[in-house]
Amino acid sequence: MTTQRSDLTRRQFLGVTATSAAVAAFGQLPRALAAGPPKRKTILSFYCDDTSPRPAGAKAFQLFLDYCARQGIKGESSCILGMGGASITRKPTDDERAYLDQIARAWECGLGSHMEIMTHGGRFDFEANRAPKDAQHEGVWLYEPEVAVEQYERYFGKIIAEGERANVRFSGFTWPGCGCEACTKRYQELKAAGHTAPNPAMWKALLNLAKQGKFRGPTVPCFFDSSEKDYGAHRKASDGKYGVYDLMPNAGDKFATYRNSDRSEFLDADYYITADGKSGIVVRHVAAGAPYCLFYGHWQGLNPVNGLGWKAFNTVVERIRQHLEGRVVWMRPSEITDHYHKADGWSFLDTL
Ligand SMILES: [Zn+2]
Ligand SMILES: [Zn+2]
Repeated sequence: MTTQRSDLTRRQFLGVTATSAAVAAFGQLPRALAAGPPKRKTILSFYCDDTSPRPAGAKAFQLFLDYCARQGIKGESSCILGMGGASITRKPTDDERAYLDQIARAWECGLGSHMEIMTHGGRFDFEANRAPKDAQHEGVWLYEPEVAVEQYERYFGKIIAEGERANVRFSGFTWPGCGCEACTKRYQELKAAGHTAPNPAMWKALLNLAKQGKFRGPTVPCFFDSSEKDYGAHRKASDGKYGVYDLMPNAGDKFATYRNSDRSEFLDADYYITADGKSGIVVRHVAAGAPYCLFYGHWQGLNPVNGLGWKAFNTVVERIRQHLEGRVVWMRPSEITDHYHKADGWSFLDTL
C-alpha cells in the first residue's frame, strides 16, 4: 500500500501483546472456542504492494508466481499499470509485455491482482496517457469528500479497461499510501475537517463495478489500514451477492519493506514465526483461534531477484508448513471476502 513515510504513523500497531490479539480474535468467535483449544482452521493470506516490472523486471514476478504455485500458498500482488508514467498495456516494452503475461497468469498460481490504482502517484489522464505534473495524488483523492460516485466509478472503470487490453483482471483494491509534501498537507487538512476515512462514494463505485462484473468475483477486498488487534472484514457496501470489504491485515511487513532494507526492524522472519514454531504473530493468531492471519509486504523488498526480504519470506512459508500444517488454510483475499459475504460471517470456517 505504501512507498512513503507518512504511512508509518498509520501503522504504529507493532508491539501489540499476544493477549490483546487473542482478545480481539475471540471477540468474533463463539465463546466455546475461547475455553478450549481452537478447532477451526485459521486462514492465511498476504498482500504484496507496489508490484510492477520496475524494480526487478518481469522475470522476478515469474519466479515469484512459480514459487507460490509450487508451495501452494495464496495471496495477492498488486498491479500498477501506470507506475512508470504511461499505461504499460498500450505500447509495452518487451519486459512490460512479459510482466503483463505473468499478471494474466497470476490467478492460476494462487494470486489475485489488486489495482493499487493507476499510477500510485498523480491522477492519470487517460486521453493523454500520462499523469500531469501537478495532478493530485490518487491516494488522497480517495479521501476527498466532494468526489461523486460517478467520478470514482469512471476512473476505476478506465483502469479496469486498461487491464482488459492485456488480459489483466483485478480481484481487489489497494490504497496507495503517500507521504509527499502535498499529500501530507492535504491529509492534515482533511483530518482537521473531520474527514479521517475514505469517501464513502468510493466504496459505492467499487460495488457498482463489481455488480457490472468488472472485478474477478462478486466481492472486492480492499487494503487500507492494518492492525494486529483491531482488525476484521469490514463491509463497506453491499447489494445481494455483491460486497465491498475493508479486509484488514493483522500482521505487518517485516520482509524488508518498500525500503528494501535488511535492518532488523524491517526484516525479521521471527516476527511471523520462530524456528521452533512457538512464537510469532502467525503462531499467536492461530493459537488464539483467529479467523485469519493476513500479512503484507512490498515488491521492493519481497521480490526474488533483488529483494532483501525474499529469503525471510521463504523461511516463513517453510516454518508454517513445518509447525502449523493442518491448522491453517491459504486463500486469496477475494476468496476470504467471497466466503465471508456468502456466509455473512466466519461460520464457513467450520467447513474447512
Ligand atoms: Zn503502495
Ligand atoms: Zn503524494
